[in-house]
Amino acid sequence: MNFDALFQAQIDALKSDGNYRYFAELERKCGKFPHAANHQDDGEVRDVTVWCSNDYLGMGQNPLVIDAMCEAVQRTGTGAGGTRNISGTNHDHLLLERELADLHGKEAALLFTSGYVSNWAALSTLGSRLDGCIILSDSGNHASMIEGIRHARAQKVIWNHNDVADLEAKLAALPANAPKIVAFESVYSMDGDIAPIRQIVEVAEKYGAMTYLDEVHAVGLYGPRGGGIAEREGLMDRITLIEGTLGKAFGVVGGYITGSAALCDFIRSFASGFIFTTALPPAVAAAARASIMHLKSSSDERHHQREQVAKLRAGLDRAGIPHLMNDSHIVPVMIKDPVKTKMLADHLMNEWGIYVQPINYPTVPKGTERLRFTPSPLHTDADIDHLVVALTSLWKQCAIAHAVA
Ligand SMILES: *Cc1c(COP(=O)(O)O)cnc(C)c1O
Repeated sequence: MNFDALFQAQIDALKSDGNYRYFAELERKCGKFPHAANHQDDGEVRDVTVWCSNDYLGMGQNPLVIDAMCEAVQRTGTGAGGTRNISGTNHDHLLLERELADLHGKEAALLFTSGYVSNWAALSTLGSRLDGCIILSDSGNHASMIEGIRHARAQKVIWNHNDVADLEAKLAALPANAPKIVAFESVYSMDGDIAPIRQIVEVAEKYGAMTYLDEVHAVGLYGPRGGGIAEREGLMDRITLIEGTLGKAFGVVGGYITGSAALCDFIRSFASGFIFTTALPPAVAAAARASIMHLKSSSDERHHQREQVAKLRAGLDRAGIPHLMNDSHIVPVMIKDPVKTKMLADHLMNEWGIYVQPINYPTVPKGTERLRFTPSPLHTDADIDHLVVALTSLWKQCAIAHAVA
């Protein structure tokens, strides 16, 4: 059997659809974010401005976070030394879990190696271990939640994105005594829209369902202490489980859930994705904790990010470049064609030194391909002006309709 030919045939199909993924080879430069070096195929290295990072506040180069990581490496060494069960539970992990529980006003928290793993492990454990459990999943949920739900092999009901009436109709049709989980996100990462959390919680409470909220694109960014949208809306205590990442606004890596002591102990005790993998390095936990602690008391980063987001939107409006309106920090410019999206991204990179990754299927549905901009507090006004000038020039060249998306 020629396996490589089988692999290549599927890769070629992706290429002919325009859905093949090209990764930009970046070298992040500490202290220079959002600027980075781009290593190109021909060996050339160029300076680029990164416009699509999920290091939303530049915390990945914050001196407090770097110092915490370096200090912990010197103190504890590089790795955790084992799974959490067998010699891998370090003091720094527990300090971080307490910090996370406090951030979300919960009794307990549980760390995972990534946000993906935390969703996958928590949802699959809940769905498979709760007898007769039914999971009601928002149709826009992230792949990590979808995979966790699939793995649970529990009954799954998909409700229309952010549609509380549809959720209620679906809850009402289910047996009253079955354990139900309503799984959704706060900020949806590709459209940047925000869930009506209060109404969702009210409906879930009415039908005795637990709520599972992914705040991955909101932690560090919203709420007076960076606890997310649920903190901002005063709803944290009414959400059963809040899930988040340490890899986006907190600038490090790792994922977590928070909730009651019993809930976290239950996941800790049964989740394969928690049990059978080496714990995060203690230095990663120490750095994440420093980042969380800083953003609990400082709102400067959040405020300045919001200002830069508003400036980019205003610049795009003045230039007549359509972008999706939302109440978050995510600025999607819809192109609606994978080949055109890639072409625009290539021009931005090659002619303007602007790096924005084309977003294609399966990250977004086919026909909704886009450029997704994430302004940070470290993007200067000049960076924003440069981006708007570049897009304006490309818009003319590519003859894309100046219509409001
Ligand atoms: C990125 C993402 C995750 C996964 O988090 P990682 O820490 O990157 O693994 C989970 N949920 C959503 C909505 C995400 O966008």
